[in-house]
Amino acid sequence: MPNIILFGPPGAGKGTQSKKLIQKYQLVHIAPGDLLREHIGRQTSLGKQVARYIDAGKLAPDELVVGVVADQLAQAKHSSSFLFDGFPRTLAQATALEEQLATHQLQIAAVILLEVPEAELLQRLQHRAQIVGRADDQDATKVATRMHIYHEETLPMAQYYTRQHKLFNVNGLGSVDEIFERIAAVIDQLPSTSRV
Ligand code: AMP
Repeated sequence: MPNIILFGPPGAGKGTQSKKLIQKYQLVHIAPGDLLREHIGRQTSLGKQVARYIDAGKLAPDELVVGVVADQLAQAKHSSSFLFDGFPRTLAQATALEEQLATHQLQIAAVILLEVPEAELLQRLQHRAQIVGRADDQDATKVATRMHIYHEETLPMAQYYTRQHKLFNVNGLGSVDEIFERIAAVIDQLPSTSRV
């Protein structure tokens, strides 16, 4: 299977779609956001280092997040293929990931950008704040910070991957299953190897 990056603004549905994609394609899920929240819950030293960033809706430092991902890559089985969910989020992370993958003779096949208009994102995040209770969804200022950072730091990656002919834009509006079908259609036409 190819290695895939799923990216998009907060509330685009990355987590929801990732759960379905890892099942269908047997991918190893690399989601630093989930892992960092787990560390915060367990009050590990990493959790203590990143809590103030996550609570404020800011990005955790690149070197910490890159380190967490490098550990997960190193632990995976040799034959694994990966779904990166919410990583990379900066150009520095994108280049660090490329270097990490190269040390395992791996490469990214496709970068899927889930596109959702901002008004819909805000509605979804409000809904999620009520049902999941994530601290960074609760407060309009934190949500605005996350949107701003997405536009300033994460979206520029789209150009980077366009230049590599790896970017696929997918309409993130519709039912979960409709969006999933669109993503699956992109993945199904990729060459099947994950190796360089
Ligand atoms: P997520 O669950 O992907 O929405 O991530 C939740 C929070 O974890 C983000 O708002 C950041 O504070 C932090 N985080 C997750 N992924 C990254 C990343 N790739 N780089 C920096 N911070 C991250």
